[in-house]
Amino acid sequence: MSGRKTETRELLLPPEVDWRDATQAIRAGQIRTQEQEHAEVIYPTSSYVFKSAAEAAATFAGDNPGNVYSRYTNPTVRMFEERLAALEGAENCVATASGMAAIVSACMALLKSGDHVICSRNVFGTTHAVFDKYMKKFGVETTFVPLTDMEGWRAAVKPNTRLLFIETPSNPLNEVADIASLAQLAHANGALLAVDNCFCTPVLQKPLSLGADLVIHSATKYLDGQGRCLGGAVVGDKALTSEVLAFLRSGGFTMSPFNAWVFLKGLETLPIRMKAHCENGMKVAQWLNEQSWVETVHYCGLPDHPGHELATRQQKGYGGVLSFRVKGGREQAWAFIDNTKWISITANLGDVKSTMTHPATTTHGRLSDDDKALAGISENLIRLCVGLEDFEDIRDDLLAGAAALGA
Ligand SMILES: *Cc1c(COP(=O)(O)O)cnc(C)c1O
Repeated sequence: MSGRKTETRELLLPPEVDWRDATQAIRAGQIRTQEQEHAEVIYPTSSYVFKSAAEAAATFAGDNPGNVYSRYTNPTVRMFEERLAALEGAENCVATASGMAAIVSACMALLKSGDHVICSRNVFGTTHAVFDKYMKKFGVETTFVPLTDMEGWRAAVKPNTRLLFIETPSNPLNEVADIASLAQLAHANGALLAVDNCFCTPVLQKPLSLGADLVIHSATKYLDGQGRCLGGAVVGDKALTSEVLAFLRSGGFTMSPFNAWVFLKGLETLPIRMKAHCENGMKVAQWLNEQSWVETVHYCGLPDHPGHELATRQQKGYGGVLSFRVKGGREQAWAFIDNTKWISITANLGDVKSTMTHPATTTHGRLSDDDKALAGISENLIRLCVGLEDFEDIRDDLLAGAAALGA
């Protein structure tokens, strides 16, 4: 980039490869107009005008780099894509209307009838439905395997396996997958590895640097960080993401410019928020671990968690999502939740507000009893997404919940 004093300083500020995360999160990808605004601009326009029929034709054909139509080109959305790509260390990013739109777009772009997918068993419930119900309808078969069972992954590979799909750490038990080993397995068999990086965000984990081919995001969660907008993204190299963008042009699962602007603002504070989520998450996990009314705590930051060592190697922090089992069953878990005073009872996560849910009857309620047992979703399990309120206040509200257990 030319120096600060140059008169013709570029309005488009390219992501500096040597910037660190906090700088990328605040600076990467911004496009400035001639008005020289400091904050990013929202472009609420569906289409763009051309100087001539010839320019329109060239732009439509892709020979001219300009914007065409906001279903697949919008400057505010582009700024968000550039910034998230910079943070993930990726060549490119395609923003989508939601996290699910990101997953479906990647599937529609990269899979075809007759392909086989291997997906970790504990993925987000709706992701499970996409593979198990809708992809199946179009002739894509999916095998579900336990996230941490490397032998299971190897055994599931077929000649037509095209995609391995994981979330790590998993929801709600915080199991941790070895991204590098799964990437190796995928590549040795001509398949791709996609990692849903929702829980860690690029601040805590950069799956592409460990060999993954695609990163999926629900921007709805930590990237926004304050529970306002739905959005998603597919991140990866130019070849794969341009196929996803080509699908988006036809499929129309587009992120709105307003939402992209909210996510741009969210990204600016992502590194500092994730640090604080990790600190609060650790404090709450350690405290829960000492309580007599708690049976077990599932948080990969605790030394006795089976994924602790791998998480320490692979992640920069352990995040803000944990789960714990109270002594008893559904009655005790519900009584605990109902006796808290202000922690939000909602299935959402990645918010500055702490949230709590009973997986067996909400997020995982559609699983059969057998599948719940396989996934470790017992009736006494509670998921807690630790927000950024004061630790002491979160602790006191959990103690209010514990009073229902006679604690
Ligand atoms: C929420 C979530 C999704 C889906 O994202 P939406 O933005 O709600 O569509 C996908 N994966 C994970 C891990 C999630 O938590």
